[in-house]
Amino acid sequence: SVSVFWFRRDLRLEDNAGLYHALKGEHPVLPLFIFDKEILDNLEDKDDKRLTFIHQEVERIKAKLEKEGSSLLVKYGKPADVWAEVLNEYDVKAVFTNRDYEPYAKERDATIGEYLSSEEIPFKTFKDQCIFEMDEVLKDDGDPYVVFTPYSRKWKEKLNVEKSDFYVKSYPVEKYADNYFQTKPLSLISLEDMGFEPVKMRFPSRTVDTETLEEYKENRDYPAVDGTSRLSIHLRFGTISIRQLARQTIGKSDTFLNELIWRDFYMMILHHFPKVVTENFHSKYDALNWRNNEKEFEAWCEGKTGYPIVDAGMRQLNETGYMHNRVRMITASFLTKHLLIDWRWGEAYFARKLLDYDLSANNGGWQWAASTGTDAQPYFRIFNPYSQQDKFDKQEAYIKKWVPEFGTGKYPEPIVEHKEARQRALDAFKSVMEN
Ligand code: FAD
Repeated sequence: SVSVFWFRRDLRLEDNAGLYHALKGEHPVLPLFIFDKEILDNLEDKDDKRLTFIHQEVERIKAKLEKEGSSLLVKYGKPADVWAEVLNEYDVKAVFTNRDYEPYAKERDATIGEYLSSEEIPFKTFKDQCIFEMDEVLKDDGDPYVVFTPYSRKWKEKLNVEKSDFYVKSYPVEKYADNYFQTKPLSLISLEDMGFEPVKMRFPSRTVDTETLEEYKENRDYPAVDGTSRLSIHLRFGTISIRQLARQTIGKSDTFLNELIWRDFYMMILHHFPKVVTENFHSKYDALNWRNNEKEFEAWCEGKTGYPIVDAGMRQLNETGYMHNRVRMITASFLTKHLLIDWRWGEAYFARKLLDYDLSANNGGWQWAASTGTDAQPYFRIFNPYSQQDKFDKQEAYIKKWVPEFGTGKYPEPIVEHKEARQRALDAFKSVMEN
């Protein structure tokens, strides 16, 4: 008989809450990963880089487990079908996993939880993805926060940075490594067998050095500088532990810690207000008259708007699956304000391209830029792409890197005139506010 630990967006053996609890239990632990057909069938690109990343990490975990005399059970299919198979193949006594707050994941876990309990198998879930989840940081009246600053204050109070490390303590999984289920190496399905093409690329490293943290505040806003951690893909897939990163950050950079709090904030918002996935957080904006011009959307996607900082960002995204945060804000503002294109279009494009795509942070970022979100940019504050460029890429190093034809006759004219577009956006937002 075995306990099963189900990996999802927590692809690591170190400091993993659910895995730790599984190993401390009475049954040997068989780790499982499912390539979920419900998710994979909806991916648009056969060469989606994220699949290569996930496959690589699954392989890495499997190899490590094999050093312990165990292995990783890897399945491909719809979770409900896979679980029926697993219960057939093994005498499963309990299932352990880490919680995920996206609507699809919550529904999936509710279904699997019910199925397991109909078989009298307990389904135990743990917090692992964030420092504080769901109802852990609430207003005094018990309502969820919808504004970031008071939320972050309460968050820090609860963490009690000075006195205790309770919430950021690591789970010493390695102490219980002799409780892995012993088995011969199990098989691993290839990407090709699931209909995907592996890509050759180097992913960002899973560590950040102290210098980057200490200089983060000064450097983070300049896209030509390597001044941010580049850990987003690892935080997305759990290939690093958020607790370990928070421990490393405390006392080194409040600004960086704040970004980790934004991450918790948007996960909390998604949990409490799942409607944000498809709707404006502030419904007064539902009446907004988006122009939604398809040609202009295409120009934005391809990085051919004639606004160098916007085009550089979109090309960085298209080529690498990454875009610097400052430029994410600029490109999102440009799409929703200058072009008056529905934020949902931009959000979907980012979701398709970003290696670090995360529903809560992406939706939060887009609704922030579009002014429709929780603690959003006020609608009348419209980024001027030229002054943003002046401030944050004065030497044009970032622009020249991604838009080599910039400054030559081949570079396109701006698709909209800044002043007119700005006024048009103000008028559109104002008319909604007045109604
Ligand atoms: P760093 O600056 O080193 O920050 C460290 C970590 O903090 C990041 O890895 C991330 O996990 C977290 N973080 C930083 N800023 C934010 C933020 N504003 N909201 C939530 N978490 C944050 N981030 C994603 O992880 N996935 C997304 O899909 C995503 N979409 C975005 C869309 C828009 C329109 C905008 C404006 C922002 C988006 N962000 C998203 C937030 C941010 O741009 C990225 O987290 C950051 O650029 C990743 O690079 P980094 O790891 O070097 O970040």
